[in-house]
Amino acid sequence: MEHFMKTIAFLLLTAFSVNTHLSATETKNEWIEEYIITVPDFPKTGIQFKCYPDLLKNPKAFHRATKTFAERYKNFDLDAIVGLDSRGFIFGAALAYEMNLPFVMIRKAGKLPRKSERIDYALEYGKASFEIEVDSLNPGDRVLIVDDLLATGGTANAAAALVERLGAEVVEVACLIELEGLHGRKNLKYPFYSLISIEVDE
Ligand code: AMP
Repeated sequence: MEHFMKTIAFLLLTAFSVNTHLSATETKNEWIEEYIITVPDFPKTGIQFKCYPDLLKNPKAFHRATKTFAERYKNFDLDAIVGLDSRGFIFGAALAYEMNLPFVMIRKAGKLPRKSERIDYALEYGKASFEIEVDSLNPGDRVLIVDDLLATGGTANAAAALVERLGAEVVEVACLIELEGLHGRKNLKYPFYSLISIEVDE
């Protein structure tokens, strides 16, 4: 009996100490990794491009990812989900629908027809500009920014600056994938959550 109790205590302690060393991301969502494909040298030599067509083609997997986000954000008292052009629209719109929240687009320059704010920013592989329509958020709105992947954090910081120009508050930035090793989480000026973190292999 004593041996049995010691074994249980050891197992509990081991489980606890493992959990304290792993982030929520590492402990929970490894299933997503099987859906991620790395395409070397796209769109430029040296970039290991991550895509996940089979996750989007599998309704159960897509819904599971959306539900995982929704579960995290159910008590965040959000007023809107802001999705980033273009793959942030996929997860952002699905999450907004799941949570019954307004969905707002931040688009690449030149796509929005009405009065917009604009910001220029640097990408892992180039430069880009984002725009948001000025009446798309209200001052004080609590906003979650959603994109598919965090690399250097430049895209999410630019989007967050636009949200703040409208007087809204960026509560968190959420992505499907964090590419570790490009210091995105460190560069980001906002709380960050991803379903999975993967080592950058470039
Ligand atoms: P960053 O601004 O460096 O954090 O880059 C994040 C944005 O660029 C996201 O919108 C991603 O979709 C895209 N992106 C950057 N690097 C990659 C990559 N290696 N694979 C796929 N998408 C990427």
